[in-house]
Amino acid sequence: MENRFPHVVIIGAGFGGLTAAKSLKSAPVRVTIVDRTNHHLFQPLLYQVAMAGLSPADIASPIRSILRKQRNTTVLLAEATGVNYAERSVSVRDDEREEKLFYDYLVLATGGKTSYFGHNEWERIAPGLKDLDDAVEIRRRILLAFEEAEKEHDPQRRKDLLTFVVVGGGPTGVELAGAIAELARFVLARDFRSINPRSAEILLLEGGPRILPAFEPDLSESAELQLNGLGVNVRVNAQVTNIDGNGVYLGPELIRSATVIWSAGVNTTSFTMCLGVELDRSGRINVQPDLSIPNHPNVFAIGDMTRFFQDGKLLPGVSPVAIQMGRTVARNIKYDLAGKPRKNFRYFDKGNMATIGRKAAIAQIGSIHLSGFIAWVAWLMVHIFFLIGFRNRIAVLFNWAWSYFTYQRGARLITGRKVRENTKQTKTNETNEKTDKISFVSLFFVCFVFSLLNSASGT
Ligand SMILES: Cc1cc2nc3c(=O)[nH]c(=O)nc-3n(C[C@H](O)[C@H](O)[C@H](O)COP(=O)(O)OP(=O)(O)OC[C@H]3O[C@@H](n4cnc5c(N)ncnc54)[C@H](O)[C@@H]3O)c2cc1C
Repeated sequence: MENRFPHVVIIGAGFGGLTAAKSLKSAPVRVTIVDRTNHHLFQPLLYQVAMAGLSPADIASPIRSILRKQRNTTVLLAEATGVNYAERSVSVRDDEREEKLFYDYLVLATGGKTSYFGHNEWERIAPGLKDLDDAVEIRRRILLAFEEAEKEHDPQRRKDLLTFVVVGGGPTGVELAGAIAELARFVLARDFRSINPRSAEILLLEGGPRILPAFEPDLSESAELQLNGLGVNVRVNAQVTNIDGNGVYLGPELIRSATVIWSAGVNTTSFTMCLGVELDRSGRINVQPDLSIPNHPNVFAIGDMTRFFQDGKLLPGVSPVAIQMGRTVARNIKYDLAGKPRKNFRYFDKGNMATIGRKAAIAQIGSIHLSGFIAWVAWLMVHIFFLIGFRNRIAVLFNWAWSYFTYQRGARLITGRKVRENTKQTKTNETNEKTDKISFVSLFFVCFVFSLLNSASGT
């Protein structure tokens, strides 16, 4: 791409940054997109990786391959560490070196990270779910808890190992609690000899008066009932005061548990601290109506790292907001270059969904409220549709069909820790067996789809 074109540097290839880059595909600009990971992650399905339903590669795509046909765009694997507004440069570094990228326009889209509200010491005991490493770690802890309970003779310790606590009743907490219950009741139930995984206790703790506060109260209530149906014990107004190796404390009450998962808070990444702009308590930037940051019209911020009020209401930290912001910023850059006035951002809310488990979900689309099977089908369709990459869509569809019909999970691997050689051997055999079955079912589906496509093209 010719150097005479303005240089747009985008930091972060999540929902917002990637959309901004793609929307600049045909614009007369050079785009450089920088991310500290080499993949775009579909965070809404992270809980499926944590619950062994999907493999990491099913929900992530290399950024380089997503943008390979976009000739005006360069991808850099590096971490942004600071911005110099005076010289219009952003510092980026990888393991080897640090360099400056000079920009005409800068788009910041670095998203958020798990927040422990000042109790970072809880992170070691209660991991949050924000990236693939977190998901694999949570999967490891949950599967290991069942393995250790199988060997445990002390009844109290066994009970602790079979008690799972999820802190935070937002969509991620609800998904995780529902998925642990399904894993225990349907998937693992027949695989153990000394323990009954069905007896596992799953608690969802919410500090406020109801779970899923972003939904209307009738849907929160429906979600709670659906969770109860799966065997999840929901406790509202449950303020966590401490978490340690024994479990979770609600004031003087201790809920004993060996596995605690945190899904109660999100903060922006530390990168926002070096931007020299005013931040709210969660580190978010108050952006201007055109999404530029105060006093820097050529620097935009989008997605979870921003705070944007529309009609007096704070926009939620969800992917449609980030995607629409990404499009607006690309359009405003194009308007600038065409000498037209910028447009202000306006979010179009297409609805809100949360899944609870197999055939259980809620959806709020304007005044339409859905729950149960129909909401679950809608949730499934939307998530398949928005997944990036044809391979991922097919893989996820197959894996879900497999889990749905067989009550099995293909990604039940314990990785990330050295397990004893004999345990490793047993697991490997189990995995190979499962992989063979998956391959067979996948092959069957592929043949089926292709024969359908063939017969359709022949007509
Ligand atoms: C578990 C989970 C479930 C969710 N479920 C849903 C859901 O069902 N529906 C929904 O709409 N939303 C959901 N969300 C929220 C949604 O994923 C976010 O709102 C969305 O990802 C925000 O997009 P973004 O572009 O702002 O940031 P992100 O998508 O988080 O992307 C930020 C990118 O910036 C990169 N980055 C960060 N710092 C740096 C740096 N210094 N240098 C270089 N790169 C950097 C990161 O690697 C990342 O790729 C969920 C989120 C989580 C964590």
